[in-house]
Amino acid sequence: MTEIGTTVLGYPRIGPDRELKRALERYWAHRIDQDELLETGRDLRERTWRTLVAAGLDSVPSNTFSHYDHVLDTAALFGALPERFTGPSPLDTCFAAARGAQGAPALEMTKWFDTNYHYLVPELGPDTTFTLAGTKPLDEYLEAKALGIETRPVLVGPVTFLLLAKSTTAGFRPLDLLDTLLPRYVDLLRRLRAAGAGWVQLDEPAFAGDRTEAELNALIRAYHWLGKETGRPKILVAGYFGHLGRGLGVLARAPIEALAVDLVSDESFVDAVAAEPALRDKEVLAGVVDGRNVWRTDPQRALGRAATLLGVAKSVSVSTSCSLLHVPYDVERETGLPRLAGWLAFARQKVDEVVLLGRALRGEDVDLSGARQAVADRAAATELADEHVRARLAALRPDDAVRPPHAERAEAQQAALGLPPLPTTTIGSFPQTTEVRKARAAHKAGTLGAAAYEAAMRAEIERVVRLQEELGLDVLVHGEPERNDMVQYFAERLAGFAATEHGWVQSYGSRCVRPPILYGDVSRPAPMTVHWARHAQSLTPKPVKGMLTGPVTILAWSFVRDDQPLADTARQVALAVRDEVRDLEAAGIRIIQVDEPALRELLPLRRSGHEDYLRWAVSAFRLATSGAAGSTQIHTHLCYSEFGEILPAIDALDADVTSIEAARSKMEVLAGLAGFGRGIGPGVYDIHSPRVPDAGEIGELLHAAAGTVPADRLWVNPDCGLKTRGYAEVEPALRNLVAAVREVRAGL
Ligand code: GLN
Ligand code: ZN
Repeated sequence: MTEIGTTVLGYPRIGPDRELKRALERYWAHRIDQDELLETGRDLRERTWRTLVAAGLDSVPSNTFSHYDHVLDTAALFGALPERFTGPSPLDTCFAAARGAQGAPALEMTKWFDTNYHYLVPELGPDTTFTLAGTKPLDEYLEAKALGIETRPVLVGPVTFLLLAKSTTAGFRPLDLLDTLLPRYVDLLRRLRAAGAGWVQLDEPAFAGDRTEAELNALIRAYHWLGKETGRPKILVAGYFGHLGRGLGVLARAPIEALAVDLVSDESFVDAVAAEPALRDKEVLAGVVDGRNVWRTDPQRALGRAATLLGVAKSVSVSTSCSLLHVPYDVERETGLPRLAGWLAFARQKVDEVVLLGRALRGEDVDLSGARQAVADRAAATELADEHVRARLAALRPDDAVRPPHAERAEAQQAALGLPPLPTTTIGSFPQTTEVRKARAAHKAGTLGAAAYEAAMRAEIERVVRLQEELGLDVLVHGEPERNDMVQYFAERLAGFAATEHGWVQSYGSRCVRPPILYGDVSRPAPMTVHWARHAQSLTPKPVKGMLTGPVTILAWSFVRDDQPLADTARQVALAVRDEVRDLEAAGIRIIQVDEPALRELLPLRRSGHEDYLRWAVSAFRLATSGAAGSTQIHTHLCYSEFGEILPAIDALDADVTSIEAARSKMEVLAGLAGFGRGIGPGVYDIHSPRVPDAGEIGELLHAAAGTVPADRLWVNPDCGLKTRGYAEVEPALRNLVAAVREVRAGL
């Protein structure tokens, strides 16, 4: 077969019932042996390949499976895992690198481009030598072949792999290893060809971001090197998550056979592709089915874009915009979403869309009426528009998103709160004990009645309030026991959102999330958090901080409607949060925290998109918080420390107090925040580790912080919420935190 034809760039791998997650957890708990784990993987791969073949795809990908993460697999494949990781088998070594082991801290984990998937960051240095240390892509190719299925092995491309790695040595760039890595890719390609592979797919999503001249040169060098090799399979390079910029011209001129482009993330990219003369002798895969969102494809628009390329390339096929890793398996399993389900396509449905569109593009007489009708039904659905919300937003004036000057606010707040210098607080959640989780689960299952559930949560809140009083914290929280998740909790209470039953998506390793679906105009039918906050405040004279999730984070962790600009949707969510802020205030809550941990995450991959994004993201936060009186103290929390380029935006949020993660960086991140002129709460306790910090080390961090931020603006808190920790660690750590503050205060 010379052409690829219809295909998908990848498929979910965790299992339709999260079989892989369960097998991994049992294996790690020594409840099953490795053979059983491997069998689960084999079974999932076979089911996926058979599904894709049966659906009628012309080309089926392989090596899209992973026991943990595909970037980790790539590092292991080329013998590039740090020596500190060892295990009784290669798979155990990978797990050690992913999860850490005694004396060998895990590889760092970070977001895969602008998705919610996390990959493990390879560590490379001048001493790294690459070897073809594994055979995973080859094994999976042969495994499919033995089932009678010809596949196209998928690999992380060499340039993206190096760009995703971090350097172990100052002044060294992993990209400098390109010439030693390429020969190993050549070895692998030759072995795949010898085994019979006709095609390979090399993923280079790094080129959807801004790249330097040197990085573009590396792309040129890599694909000339690989392309000119003989005895290799045909090469498909996939660039996704955005337009390829100058990478397009580079890849069009490289001696490769096919290029996959993402025509969903940036619809105007199709014009650049159509204008590229060098594609004449290439096969182009038009990524017109969205691999990242859950809406059914509009066949008219998709075909229009794909057809633009006919005549530009040697051949044009239909594909997904990126791997389907980022969407759930199958919408047919959702029985609770009557009308909405008809508008949705999960991975399984997207495969059918690709096949259908591919046939239509080839001029076959196919019936697109079902697809057209679904799109028309959604567009016409009146329940999507809430005129009341739209009218409220239209009536807002710029002044409505501005708070009084900070100096004025600070004075009113101090008068209302009377806090000591270096006030102590926490980020919101307290440990989610087994009892708390059980009570929530039983309530959801219907075995624990509303009154009993309410009582259990109230008792837990009381326990957490008493504990905080006893520890001597200054600003208390209710502990968030009622929250399954900081976004899902709100999505379940807002109009315009729906929850799925089986819509799991891999977040990292065995961890999955079930993002809510934001499908229509958003509003808040009733208060969401007020009665819990009021209960907590009724138990103590100390201020209890209300706890909300901000609009950007709610969008970032949901599947969001694609029929209006994200900025408009953000304003609707912001208005709902604003209503909640007002009601908390009216219930006597004097401090309200609006968490925005995903502010950095939604930042567009290319700098050209930053300004616009930051403008609407900041104004959504301000809309959400500016309904509060000047005397109400607004906090925000951001849990990451590398925010360099968004620092001005964080400042522009105009929160009275900003808490951030800082313990691991030894307060270095504070330098950028010191100029804010408002409260700063650098984390002095790294909650990501089970270690309990002693008062001495917390005191040192505090002294370091006080050297940068004036004491009258410094707050003291852990790095992040405590829900993943246990009381055995949290209690002594907070006790030490309070002791450290008392000592520092005495010296003021
Ligand atoms: N308030 C949330 C908590 O404490 C914040 C979590 C987060 O920022 N990720 O759990
Ligand atoms: Zn956090």
